[in-house]
Amino acid sequence: AARWTHVGVPPADPILGLKVVFRQDPFTSSKIDLTVGAYRTNDGEPWVLPAVRVATERLLTADHEYLPIDGLPAFTRATQRLMYGDDVASAVTVQTLSGTGAVRLSLEFLKRFFDAPLYLPRITWSNHFNIARDAGFADPRTYAYLDDATSRLDFESMLADLDAAPDGSIVLLHLCAHNPTGVDLTLPQWEILADLFARKSLLPLFDSAYLGFATGDLDRDAKPFRLFFEKGLAPWACVSFSKNFGLYSERVGALHATVRVEERDAVLGHLKKIARAMYSNPPAFGARIVSTVLEDPDLYASWLDSLHVMSDRIFETRGLLRSHLENATRDHDWDHITSQIGMFCFTGLTKSQVLELREKHHVYMLDNGRVSMAGVNTRNVEPLAAAIAAVLE
Ligand code: PMP
Repeated sequence: AARWTHVGVPPADPILGLKVVFRQDPFTSSKIDLTVGAYRTNDGEPWVLPAVRVATERLLTADHEYLPIDGLPAFTRATQRLMYGDDVASAVTVQTLSGTGAVRLSLEFLKRFFDAPLYLPRITWSNHFNIARDAGFADPRTYAYLDDATSRLDFESMLADLDAAPDGSIVLLHLCAHNPTGVDLTLPQWEILADLFARKSLLPLFDSAYLGFATGDLDRDAKPFRLFFEKGLAPWACVSFSKNFGLYSERVGALHATVRVEERDAVLGHLKKIARAMYSNPPAFGARIVSTVLEDPDLYASWLDSLHVMSDRIFETRGLLRSHLENATRDHDWDHITSQIGMFCFTGLTKSQVLELREKHHVYMLDNGRVSMAGVNTRNVEPLAAAIAAVLE
């Protein structure tokens, strides 16, 4: 007898599910994939960073023993320095299954030991809601982020929502290159936000999936975390090395928890206990690549170079897309294409325009109008702009 009829088919993932639909589209020569946030060269190809290639060759003879539950020590130390600078005494770090695993592990811990509501930006990476719910935050609350009318940050409403949150709430913040909007706070706005967090004892949980990708400068991108840290707000960070190292499938990430020295053993102990039951211990290979690169001055320099290559290409492509759209359309303001930063462009297209682009023009972007700029290149930018113009007219 059928056992699973009560289960029902869930909706496909709004990001990875769309990638599957794209692959099935038979218009192979003209279809354009702007769905998943993975870097592509101007030829539309994935890019293995030169430093990653060298590190990989050095590691070919490494063994395949288990790592400790909290990961590779050389890796956790190196990733701490990226986030905290030199002041790492109060950091508890666990290597995680990339950024997704870091968000999950932190929320599992917080659900168990910190009785407080969770706030997500009203518009955010769709998986944040899935992770929160599966970690036991049945109904995550949201705070205002984007002003839909202007596609700019609605900072006043964001402050008002967080001011109205119960004291001690957990608040997820995108460190830089906000996904999907590409709209970040300015430094003076981060200062104002930090004061609000201090006044209300909010717990800042930074999601760092794009460090180095926003400006190409690691210290500049890490600034909001360091500012909150220096103000004594004990921020946590969920770190991904998928994008900035191009190590998507290797699942390299970390959770940093800022705690008092006397709290370290308890917090680390329970994070390890949760990890042990969920996946036992993290994969070694990607973490070895990252720590090899971060600890070797030449490879480190090469990595910084690659961050610039990637962020510069995306920056230039934004300019190109904007000028093609300005040529192809009348009475439309495309300023936001170049004012947004990071991998994504939030076009402001409506869902019905997005669906028309998909069906009639074989252009694939998320239903919310998010475009992965990495998918745009000198070959497809003109047909892309023409297709967008066609659904707008
Ligand atoms: N947070 C945000 C905001 C993201 O965009 C992503 C990747 N799309 C992640 C976390 C996690 O990605 P990963 O698990 O591949 O590190």
